[in-house]
Amino acid sequence: MLKVKDIRRYLNEHLGEQYPSSELRSFQNWILEFLLDYSTADALMNAEKTLQEETINELERVVQLLVKSKPIQQIFGHAWFYGCKFSVNEHVLIPRPETEELVDWILKDDPNNKSLLDIGTGSGCISISIAMNSSVNVSSLDISENALLMAKENAKTLKTKIHFIHTDIMSDGVLNHLSQYDIIVSNPPYVLESDKQVMADNVIKYEPHLALFVPNENALKFYLKITDIACKTLKPGGILYFEIHELKGKEMVELLKNKGFTQIELKQDMQGKDRMIKALWNV
Ligand code: GLN
Repeated sequence: MLKVKDIRRYLNEHLGEQYPSSELRSFQNWILEFLLDYSTADALMNAEKTLQEETINELERVVQLLVKSKPIQQIFGHAWFYGCKFSVNEHVLIPRPETEELVDWILKDDPNNKSLLDIGTGSGCISISIAMNSSVNVSSLDISENALLMAKENAKTLKTKIHFIHTDIMSDGVLNHLSQYDIIVSNPPYVLESDKQVMADNVIKYEPHLALFVPNENALKFYLKITDIACKTLKPGGILYFEIHELKGKEMVELLKNKGFTQIELKQDMQGKDRMIKALWNV
């Protein structure tokens, strides 16, 4: 007989060796919310309540998937980002807190009444969050049709109007799909192939490699191409924003300078790592 208060012990027994206790606490909160619709306060008040058989079955199922390192966001099918719930699956990157900081930066720069293109939109978390918090005219692009399906679902659930573009930015005809924009933003793949060895199983086994990895010898390939696209599709006075690899700050400043961008600003994330960059197109 398992009670509400036993969930933590159950998680400890099955996952204690695999995950740190901070993560177990977070799993516990997800499980209470998703299986029982309980807040942490509800869980305390109902600590002595016996779990029903179907709840126990569901708990076992979730724990078995966590043992296999499946990300909890994929198990439950959603992730929180900038205050909203986004659906996620194996075709999109799980939204990261660093990316919330990028969204926050753009919103603080007041994108109202401007046009914005999000390149490599994935779940749509960047462009949908900006659209929800401003009156910006948004286009979101991705190479993956499956990612676009997810982004479209999120745009619908979160009641935002987005123009979706399915194309490969590395292809020759990409400009035919685009127009002119005030803002371009992108969080393209930037994790080095060589980092695969040291990355956690939950990322390596379950998140889309297409959205994550770049060859070590050409680590900035998407940044180069997107910057070229920005030179052709940003209006004068337009701004380009990127999320970047923490070790590529200086190289990114050089890249943008060489392409003719000005007022380049590199910004650190909450962990103090170079994580975002913005630059002005005034040509
Ligand atoms: N920030 C992501 C990570 O740490 C990577 C995102 C990306 O490659 N664009 O896994």
